[in-house]
Amino acid sequence: MFVSIENLCFSYPNAKTAALDNFSLQIEKGEVISILGRSGSGKSTVLRLLAGLEMPAAGKVAIQEQVLFDDRTFLQPEKRGIGMVFQDYALFPHMTVAENIFFGLFRMKKAEKKKRLQEVLELVELEGYEKRYPHQLSGGQQQRVAIARALAPNPHLLLLDEPFSNLDAELQEKIRKELRDILKKADITSIFVTHDEKDAHILADRIVKIKDGCTDFIGRPCDLLDVY
Ligand code: ADP
Ligand code: ADP
Repeated sequence: MFVSIENLCFSYPNAKTAALDNFSLQIEKGEVISILGRSGSGKSTVLRLLAGLEMPAAGKVAIQEQVLFDDRTFLQPEKRGIGMVFQDYALFPHMTVAENIFFGLFRMKKAEKKKRLQEVLELVELEGYEKRYPHQLSGGQQQRVAIARALAPNPHLLLLDEPFSNLDAELQEKIRKELRDILKKADITSIFVTHDEKDAHILADRIVKIKDGCTDFIGRPCDLLDVY
């Protein structure tokens, strides 16, 4: 398996119940996975643990042969090869589109950086927007910059937290299809979190339903329909 998540357990300090209780998931290369669940079910916690923003109490996470976390290992977030798109996009407001995208590319040579900038802008169809500031972009465009920034360092895995929640209903419809095309074109393995079944059905190769920190269902979108 490309990404292997085994029996992750985690509780927030002072919480009465565990946020995640033996959460496991195996992901193939290039798959788009949706984690679907109600508010408070543990979706964001899965992403935070994968990204290395919290330390699990137990379990194991590996991407191919590289262990990110187990009882002996805790790989620092910047060494995990994971890109993240936050719910509010978290673009740096005082930086242009190009500067935002360069941010994660500090190890690259200048010519290489410029080439990569053009590649990711082409991918999200924002060529010519390098000098704009985030406030000069629509919500949908800001989201695409956030995706371009996350993809620029060529991560193994892309995580997206509620990628549609800040967009109005009409735009959501359009962006769902755009995002599906971007993810397929980039050939990136990705996990996105949503509370909206429609997002999951349109975008995901497989859906993981989560309830109270436990997996409730794993299957293809068409299998989920049979459950009802
Ligand atoms: P979701 O993303 O599905 O809304 P979360 O992963 O954010 O769910 O939360 C899972 C559980 O952990 C919930 O019960 C939530 O109240 C709790 N929780 C989340 N963040 C914190 C925190 N910083 N401190 C304490 N409890 C938290
Ligand atoms: P979208 O199709 O992504 O919703 P909009 O309809 O919101 O785009 O925006 C249309 C055009 O107006 C876009 O090219 C966008 O860059 C531009 N635009 C939107 N908001 C601003 C702004 N605050 N300042 C400058 N240009 C803007």
